[in-house]
Amino acid sequence: MMHLKVCKFGGSSLADGNNIRRAAEILRADEARRFAVVSAPGKRFSGDVKITDQLYECYREAAEKGNCDAAFAPVRRRFVSIVEELGLEGFDIAGILDEVERQIVENKSSDFTASRGEYLNARIIAAFLGWEFVDAQEIVFFNERGQFDEKRSYRLIAERLKHCAHAVIPGFYGMDAWGCVKTFTRGGSDISGSIVARGLNAELYENWTDVSGFLACDPRIVNDPRKIEIISFKELRELSYMGANVLHADAIYPVRKGDIPIRIKNTFRPEDEGTLILPSKKYVSHGNLVTGIAGKKDFTVIFLEKQLMNAEIGFARKVLSVLEKDGINFEHMPSGIDTLSLVIESRYLADGVLDTLIEQIKAAVHPDYVRVLEDIALVATVGHGMTASIGTSARLFTALSQAGVNVRMIDQGSSEINIIVGIDNADYEKCVRAVYYEFFSGAEAEE
Ligand code: ASP
Repeated sequence: MMHLKVCKFGGSSLADGNNIRRAAEILRADEARRFAVVSAPGKRFSGDVKITDQLYECYREAAEKGNCDAAFAPVRRRFVSIVEELGLEGFDIAGILDEVERQIVENKSSDFTASRGEYLNARIIAAFLGWEFVDAQEIVFFNERGQFDEKRSYRLIAERLKHCAHAVIPGFYGMDAWGCVKTFTRGGSDISGSIVARGLNAELYENWTDVSGFLACDPRIVNDPRKIEIISFKELRELSYMGANVLHADAIYPVRKGDIPIRIKNTFRPEDEGTLILPSKKYVSHGNLVTGIAGKKDFTVIFLEKQLMNAEIGFARKVLSVLEKDGINFEHMPSGIDTLSLVIESRYLADGVLDTLIEQIKAAVHPDYVRVLEDIALVATVGHGMTASIGTSARLFTALSQAGVNVRMIDQGSSEINIIVGIDNADYEKCVRAVYYEFFSGAEAEE
């Protein structure tokens, strides 16, 4: 494997000239850091507007009026001041901005417009570093169905970047099957970084952001929770699905398939170790039973019971067909011998949808008993360590009962590294605290 790191910098890490200088220092401090994937400038202070949001505004204005004079003005000011702060004399930012504004109006594409924040920032940063600018359109591709085209992208990344000593690449977008710009979902520069790391078979994907990695639980619930030093891709997937959001959930796949570790680092505290995310093969347990705790509120559980459900062929299929027909997504489906529960985000069931759904399920499978639990929160306790150790669930449930948390649902599912409990929304914070203090010894219990 080449001695090579791909570094992705997020929007807050590149929000102004000062921060860009900081990022450049980080890149120059390690010669393995040869490729930078960059976001558009993010918020400089709370209440500030991200360039990407401002660009979506440009798209709306252009669609309505045939020009985006008003909405583009702050974008222009922001990039001009970044170039001034960096002292980039001779860099024709005015000319580039004129051209971008013209293309926004002419292209009438929301994706194209939104992608220009990354494009402009990458061009400026490349000029500042004296590195090559490589447009994402040349190396990241989507197929006719709008899905990321792995084969073509990895081949082109390897070919195009093979002879580059250093390059800056805009994140967030690539080219679709018709030659137009297409973006990933919001926060998608994380995915671009992961793709470039995989295409180059890098030794490490460094993701530079404004926090020093993942925490074992939400700091708004537990004061100063422990930092996660090492986590596996599998654990991270479970935790990010449940709301731990430092990294875009889809950024995991490319590097995971290539067995490339990710390190989350803090641009503003580069000396901090951050969190290392390892493929399962390379993962060694760090001695903790539990790696992290995450959760989400506002679910509805539909509980169905029917004698001899286990022997009734097609029961689950019929229930799920009702959901499919109504276009409703379910999150979990814990089941017993004669019982089956559906856990669904409550927002899908508003305005009478819940009642209709239940009628349809009754008509399809004639259950003996149906019960609905509303305002349910899910809390996931995640860790490879749990599988190898006896008594983990006993500890978890004792801790919850001692804290006075009424467990309404349990789902250990087929993922052995995750125990999910369903509790009342009102008990959510209490539940997270109880689990945290039980498993993170040394942490003082507090309300
Ligand atoms: N600039 C894009 C966004 O705000 C993508 C990114 O920053 O990752 O969503």
